[in-house]
Amino acid sequence: MPDASSSSTPNGERLPPGMVIGPDGKPCKICTAFRNWRPRAQNTDAHPRSQMGRKNTATMMAAFASGQGFASQPDPDVRPAHCPPDVEELGRATWTFLHSTAAYYPERPTPFQRANMLNLLHALPVLYPCTTCAWHLGENMKDHPPDVSGRVPLSRWLCERHNDVNERLGKPKFNCSIRNLDERWKDGPAD
Ligand code: FAD
Repeated sequence: MPDASSSSTPNGERLPPGMVIGPDGKPCKICTAFRNWRPRAQNTDAHPRSQMGRKNTATMMAAFASGQGFASQPDPDVRPAHCPPDVEELGRATWTFLHSTAAYYPERPTPFQRANMLNLLHALPVLYPCTTCAWHLGENMKDHPPDVSGRVPLSRWLCERHNDVNERLGKPKFNCSIRNLDERWKDGPAD
């Protein structure tokens, strides 16, 4: 089982808070929020994205890619433009895709549509690039198999899985009523 709360590598090297170790025993970049990566040599001032020069960005990216020499960085607004997604950007994009797909799923799906939805959901624990996220989702789905019988049950099922992640990360739970879900992911707020 991947250990998302590790504070040291298998070699005993101390890790910054929030750093996640991947299945290869090395820091997992896509499992870690970018604000938890920072070159030790960098000065302590925050660098808003809009102010980052090319040299600064290159230095940051080289250190980011090396997986070594980082200290904790509490400011979330330090991601250089065009940098690869971190766990948060990937998560937001994936939830957007999944909740939108559920919101527009048919009320009465055909067997073909159900089979494809099941394939999509069962692929996530296998293929999702954040390995610790994928592992937790796979374990969660063993206890809560997907309900692909229609738009409403699928939207609720997905909301509950997202809430399980929210709870694990200490975030507030979302109201999983279909009215609330449709307002967020399909219809928008009433005028
Ligand atoms: P997000 O949680 O990304 O939510 C995006 C928007 O969805 C919110 O602004 C809100 O409007 C809406 N929303 C929130 N909750 C719900 C809900 N229950 N139902 C419907 N809509 C909702 N990150 C980790 O650090 N560790 C993990 O183990 C981890 N596992 C993940 C597993 C999966 C399958 C996915 C897709 C992501 C995972 N993430 C994980 C990322 C994490 O869930 C967030 O996406 C990330 O922290 C960014 O959070 P956020 O606060 O911007 O909003």
